[in-house]
Amino acid sequence: MQEEAVLRAKAEEKINKGTLPKRVADRLWGGPGVGEPCAVCEQPVAKAEIEFEVQFAKDGGGPLDVFHVHTRCYALWELVRTDGAGADDERSESPR
Ligand SMILES: [Zn+2]
Repeated sequence: MQEEAVLRAKAEEKINKGTLPKRVADRLWGGPGVGEPCAVCEQPVAKAEIEFEVQFAKDGGGPLDVFHVHTRCYALWELVRTDGAGADDERSESPR
């Protein structure tokens, strides 16, 4: 188990690099792990754990982009994504 702050930093880095999408998933499946490495923390999701399979449709169709993540890692990914972390221009609502 890794610390939440570490995982959050990883999620942030991956979103900034474009490794993880910064948009709402098109499909989300929950279920037991299949041993695939987590897209956030890179640790395999063990069969005894619950994973989310997060799918993103590509523009113009084709196969979906699929990410396996721990439920906890997904929560952090969501947190970073909706937090506007790493984005410079998402504070337009705050007055100057
Ligand atoms: Zn993970």
